[in-house]
Amino acid sequence: MTDLQFDGLGAAFYPEQQPPELIPEYIERLAEAGLAFVRMAEFAWDKLEPAEGQYDFNWLDKVISLLDARKIRALLCTPTAVPPVWLATGNEDMYPVLDNGKQLRFGTRRYVCITSPEFRRTSLALVRAMGRHYANDKRIIGWQLDNEVGGPFCFCPRCLNLFRNYCRERFGSISEFNRCLHTHFWGQALQDFEQIPFPTDYQSPTLWQIYHQFFSKTVIEYYHQQLQELRVCGVTAPISTNMMLTWYGYDHREMIKGMDYACGDYYYSASPFGDFPVGEKEYGNDFAGDAFLSAYLQGLKPETNIRYQEFQCAPEHYTWYQPVPNEIRNRTLTQIALGADHICYFRWDCCLSGAERDAYAILRSPHHPGRNFAEIKALSSELAMMKEDLNGSRPQKSDIALLYSYESQYDFGENTRCPDLEGPSGNGYAMFLCRQFRALANIHCRPEIVFPDGNFSSYKLIIAPALYILSPDMIDRIRDYIRNGGIFLFLPPSGIADEFGTLFPTPPPGPLQDIFGMVVTGSGRYNEIMGKVKLVSCCPELPFQNLNVNRWLDEIAPQNGTQVLATFAGQFHQNIPAMTCHKYGQGKALYLGTWLEREEMTSFYSALLRYLAMENDVPQLPAGVYAAERIKDMCTLTFLINTTACMQKFHWQNREITLTPFDVKCIRTVSDVHEGGIKRN
Ligand SMILES: [Zn+2]
Repeated sequence: MTDLQFDGLGAAFYPEQQPPELIPEYIERLAEAGLAFVRMAEFAWDKLEPAEGQYDFNWLDKVISLLDARKIRALLCTPTAVPPVWLATGNEDMYPVLDNGKQLRFGTRRYVCITSPEFRRTSLALVRAMGRHYANDKRIIGWQLDNEVGGPFCFCPRCLNLFRNYCRERFGSISEFNRCLHTHFWGQALQDFEQIPFPTDYQSPTLWQIYHQFFSKTVIEYYHQQLQELRVCGVTAPISTNMMLTWYGYDHREMIKGMDYACGDYYYSASPFGDFPVGEKEYGNDFAGDAFLSAYLQGLKPETNIRYQEFQCAPEHYTWYQPVPNEIRNRTLTQIALGADHICYFRWDCCLSGAERDAYAILRSPHHPGRNFAEIKALSSELAMMKEDLNGSRPQKSDIALLYSYESQYDFGENTRCPDLEGPSGNGYAMFLCRQFRALANIHCRPEIVFPDGNFSSYKLIIAPALYILSPDMIDRIRDYIRNGGIFLFLPPSGIADEFGTLFPTPPPGPLQDIFGMVVTGSGRYNEIMGKVKLVSCCPELPFQNLNVNRWLDEIAPQNGTQVLATFAGQFHQNIPAMTCHKYGQGKALYLGTWLEREEMTSFYSALLRYLAMENDVPQLPAGVYAAERIKDMCTLTFLINTTACMQKFHWQNREITLTPFDVKCIRTVSDVHEGGIKRN
């Protein structure tokens, strides 16, 4: 197991994009800012291998030495996101074909088809050469595989062949393929695997599901080859890849297996999880959106703290948002409070041209450090004082989790059902989960994210919103979890289709209806013709006031022995069961047949936790102020985070606390008794 430390702060540095005479000055500024590391070589394939097989590490070695002289460590990237022009030249079949039939060309990022043999051969040879050169170099503190791995989804003839082979191997016979994908609609049954088209030419949600599963496997297979190349060379420094959260092109949980930690990029002003419409982004009150990303990353690899390999600290070129004073500190300490051990700002140095010319750098020139530089420098000193306590500390645990399924995400990514599940770049599913997360965070009860193969037994309550796809394994795991005492809550549309995306022959929740003690006999979006519809509790222990229903309504038929906890009430909805509870084994299976607006969802979850006797000691914090803890042995670091532009005064554990706008205070407590166990905030 690789030894993972609290790295603190660093920045992405691109010496290959700078005139050589400026490099010492850029490094001098790094040292002045107190940064512990830089990330390099991300797009430097052309410099590291100017012609095939001719590797040049001299320039990088010199920079690493200059950095080392100032005690700054290096994290290296495998620069495979942008192959050099010599590789592109004459290799026409390397260009990916997009869903509109057009090819990407040299000059963009990720302009290669991941299945190109030439790309694989040359890129893996470069990774091997880098691994051999730097394996034993103790100045290298880690590796990033590629950059923002993902698309493009490729529809080239070679990928089509591989897709057919994948189907052949998976289904064995074309009749089995037809049976599983239910191809009888529109006479789409096939007679031979060679007739399988891409889903772009064959309108079928099931073929999209299978294609996504194929694409995910293909992408992961390649990056695990990169990982293996470095390991074989003897690289012991931690290795991961920086994920674009929560882009749905591949299964992040599978990707991170074998890697040392989960790692993401963090551009809050471009995040789809923000609380503000795109283009109207403003700072503040978005702790929940940020905490959701952190929880997502942590769920990918719960055993190690998370890291950010790109972290916004300057305007990015979509929203041109310059952080207000104290914001970089606030954003950084928030993510550290939530469990990050490594914050790599994007980016240190400015490139004077190129696709990202207009944005991003902390320094436009090393001669003119500005306000962002000063804020990072002060924060470095502050963190240096806390490093000992932070090193080895873990974020607090929660006993509530949201279940995240890539298969469901793939399905919603391609098949729009209603606006609540739509989102940019297929992120609608993740945004839908984030709404549940936000409602719980509002009552200071941040859930964790658990994936289908995660450790269910560490949670008292698992909430599965829109778990559309249920694989046989998932069915068994949910059944076992509830039987053994877990509480499981479904939100629609859940339990609809099997692992191929084919509907179950029984109504939702499909094969789990005996566990849930009910079936959904009808469902759909709210329509204004229905008039006012309310969700009414019919259980005194579930104490919410009548809540407005204006999104979605399921019509639930409970079985004998299933308790109805709430009903719909409206002109066309008189006492229709809306929420049920069925005891199974030692646990409970809950079903809520609607979605609620944000505020009302918060009221609902507040009542639900009381019903389940899982109420939290809600900390008395002003609106917009949040607490998050990191714990090591007897020492607890409590971060009190002001996400507002106002001064906040309040009492916290018998102390008077004052937080200036966007301030964060860290309170260190050492207890005689190890609190351990579960703590929510
Ligand atoms: Zn391809």
